[in-house]
Amino acid sequence: MPIYEFHCPRCQDEFEILVMRSDEKVNCPECDCKKVERLMSGFAHKSGSGGKMVSSNSGCASCSATSCASCH
Ligand SMILES: [Zn+2]
Repeated sequence: MPIYEFHCPRCQDEFEILVMRSDEKVNCPECDCKKVERLMSGFAHKSGSGGKMVSSNSGCASCSATSCASCH
């Protein structure tokens, strides 16, 4: 079952809720705000270093190869 991560813009709380339907209405459990934002699954990790995500198997930004061996 899909568990989505939500962020409440009012109280800045982050919470995870099991959502049965994609259009299910979700309220913030802290302040009952109805305008919570659904975070993309796997997009943000609270335990991360805060740096931008870098794909480990991609080359530099200017080439589409999987490694920079052929472009430098
Ligand atoms: Zn809230």
